Amino acid sequence: MATKICFTGKFKETCEYGRKGDLWKSGYHGGTDLVGLDSENVYSICNGTVERAGYDNGGFGNYVRIKEDNSENRIYLAHLSKIYVKVGQKVTYTTIVGLMGDTGNATGKHTHVEIREFKNGVAVKKLNSSDYMGIPNKVGEYDSADYQIVGTNTSTNTQIKQKVFAVNTNIRETPGLDGIAHLYLPGTTVDILEENVINKDGYIWDKVKSVVTGRIGYVARTNIRYK
Ligand SMILES: [Zn+2]
Repeated sequence: MATKICFTGKFKETCEYGRKGDLWKSGYHGGTDLVGLDSENVYSICNGTVERAGYDNGGFGNYVRIKEDNSENRIYLAHLSKIYVKVGQKVTYTTIVGLMGDTGNATGKHTHVEIREFKNGVAVKKLNSSDYMGIPNKVGEYDSADYQIVGTNTSTNTQIKQKVFAVNTNIRETPGLDGIAHLYLPGTTVDILEENVINKDGYIWDKVKSVVTGRIGYVARTNIRYK
């Protein structure tokens, strides 16, 4: 099991991607700020190669820049207190790249996660880093156990995400409250096959597959949990 989040266990999102304000030269927050609550180990959030590992005077402090495999995206993990990786090193989701810190332009210990899309060797835009990690782009406390990924869908080269039901949840044969329902208990793990299939009956419906029974169906999403 692995996640695309830089912390294991519980973590706090203290500033979302895209927040507007004078604090940032660009006028908005170009990444997502996370605080590890159970551990200060900072993990890579992709498979890739370390391109930079050192101190940045522009505000990142001690940071690591990783080139994602199979894309031109660059991942920045900033404000580290310690760096454990070297330029040229291959990293995966399970590589600890450093320790959370407050170096550079930081008011407290946290990790600034930023994703930049590159074209011809230069950054052309900052991507939504919360979406990239598969977490809500919203201040709050979360548990990385809710955002597990299990593998790669080779046809689309996207990560398969898993969720664990926190409450009794119906997997329905068709999306919508009138679909034939099969009740699953809390603790059931599902692969998310497709998100946002349809918005119906007041819910967003995701297509999922139960890991244990193999049943494929649709579940209603409420915020980050399934109903
Ligand atoms: Zn930040």
